Amino acid sequence: MCGIVGYTGKRSAAPVVLEGLKRLEYRGYDSAGLAVVSGDGELQIFRAPGKIAVLERELGSKLPEGTTALAHTRWATHGVPNTVNAHPHADCGGTIALVHNGIIENAGALRQALSKRGHVFRSQTDTEVLSHLIEETHTKGARLVDATAEALRQVEGTYGIAVISSREPDTIVAARRGSPLLVAIGNGENFVASDASAVLAHTRSVVYLDDGDIAEVRPADYRIMDLAAAEKEKQIMQVEWDLATIERGGFAHFMLKEIMEQPESIRNTMRGRLLEEEGTVRFGGLNISDEELLKVQRIVITACGTSWHSGLIGEYMMEELARIPTEVEYASEFRYRNPIVDERTLVIGISQSGETADTLAALREAKRRGARTLGLVNVVGSTIAREVDGGIYLHAGPEIGVASTKAFTSQIVALALLTLKMGRLRALSILQGREVVRALAKLPDLVTRVLAKASQIEQLADRLIRAQNVLYLGRGYNFPVALEGALKSPTSTPRGIRLPR
Ligand code: GLU
Repeated sequence: MCGIVGYTGKRSAAPVVLEGLKRLEYRGYDSAGLAVVSGDGELQIFRAPGKIAVLERELGSKLPEGTTALAHTRWATHGVPNTVNAHPHADCGGTIALVHNGIIENAGALRQALSKRGHVFRSQTDTEVLSHLIEETHTKGARLVDATAEALRQVEGTYGIAVISSREPDTIVAARRGSPLLVAIGNGENFVASDASAVLAHTRSVVYLDDGDIAEVRPADYRIMDLAAAEKEKQIMQVEWDLATIERGGFAHFMLKEIMEQPESIRNTMRGRLLEEEGTVRFGGLNISDEELLKVQRIVITACGTSWHSGLIGEYMMEELARIPTEVEYASEFRYRNPIVDERTLVIGISQSGETADTLAALREAKRRGARTLGLVNVVGSTIAREVDGGIYLHAGPEIGVASTKAFTSQIVALALLTLKMGRLRALSILQGREVVRALAKLPDLVTRVLAKASQIEQLADRLIRAQNVLYLGRGYNFPVALEGALKSPTSTPRGIRLPR
C-alpha cells in the first residue's frame, strides 16, 4: 500500500529511484529497500527498517552501479517491519528482485506448496511467495514477463508489483490488481511507479495500468498485456497536476483523500476474512482457539478518543449479536483504577498507531491480572501488536490526516468481524451468520453511494460551519457516531451524555 519506483535507461539507476522514492515519503511507511541490476547481470539488494535516510546511510556514498533499479517503501501487512521483511524480495537463487504493494490472500497455501517443492523462505511476508513462484518458470527459461504472468495467475488478493532479473538486465516487469501502478515514458528511459509524483521530475507522460494488466518495460519501449499475454493498446496521458496535488491524489487535503478511500480501506479490512458458506470469519493472528473464546464471559474494550468511540459501537454489536457482557473503558482510567478482570475476561485494546501510551498501559495491566488481551491496530509490528496475546490488523493503510477517518470505519468493521466470530460460537445460527457476512460484503458499495453525495454534504458543511454551537444527537449505534461527530467538530465540545438504553 506504499511506494514503488522503478527505472530502466542509460543513467545510473539507484539515485533516480531513491530520489523518486523520497517523493512518496509523505504516504508513511515503515521500511525501505533498493535493488539494482548491472549491465552484466549482477543483482544487488539493499534494505533497511525505518526511513529512507537509514537505507541511504547504509548504502554510503558509493551507490551500486547499474542502469535498471527498483525501490520500495513498505507498509507492513504480514510480518513485522524489519530488514528481512523489507522489500525487494529475492528468489532462492538470487536471480530476481521483486517489490509489492498489497496483500496476497492465499500466501499461506502457496508458501506451503512452494516449501514442499524445496523453496526456502527468508521472510514472514506474503510477498515472498511471488518471488519463488516466478523463479519456478523463469529459471527454467521462461521470459521474466511470462514467468510473472504465470505466477500471478495463481495468486488471490491485491498487488502492484515490479520485478527485475539478472537474466534480463534491462527489463522491468510490472503488474497491477487493486494497487495503483503506472508506466512513465521518458526519452530512451522508462519508469514504473505507484504514484506519478515519483517520476514527475523526469516526465509527465504516463500510462496508467488497469487491474489485470502486466507491463514489460525496457529503456526504449514498453508493452502492456493482460495475464493471458494478449497485447493492449493504452492511451498515454499527460499529468497536469502539480506535485502537491498529486501527492494528495487530487484532493484538497489528506483528510479528504482518506475519507474518499473508505470503500477501499473497508474492503481491505475484510479481505480474505469473510467465510460466506460457514457464515463466519477467519482471522490470521487471533492466537486464541475457539475453545478459549467460548470460555470468555466478559469483554472489556479499552481505548482513547476516536478508538474509544468505535469501541462503544463494538460493545453494542457484541451484546446484541454475541450476547457477551461488554463494557468500554477509557484506557487512561482503566490503567489507574483497580479493574476487575480475570482469565475469563477478554480485554481488547484499540489503537490506530498501536502506540497509544494509555491503551498500551491498560493492556499491560489487564495482562498482569491474567486477562487474555487482543489488539485492534493498524500498524503492523507496533508495540501493542507485539505485546498482546493476539490481534486483528485493520489493513486500512497509512492514515496521514490527524483526525481519524478511514481508521475509525475500519475499526468498526474489524469489531463487527470479531462480533460475528464470537456470535457464531454462541448465539448466532449459520443462517444469521450468512446474513451478516452478506451485509458486511455490501458495505464498500454503500459507502461509495454515500460518498457520491459529497457535493451535497459539502453544501451542508458550508452552512454548518457558521454555527456557534453544534449538538450531535444519536441513539443506539448512532450515539457513539454522534460523539465522534462532536469530537471532529471545531464548534462543539466532545462531550456526551449517555442516555438510558
Ligand atoms: N503485504 C506486503 C508486506 O507486508 C506488502 C506491504 C505493502 O503494501 O507495502 O510486506
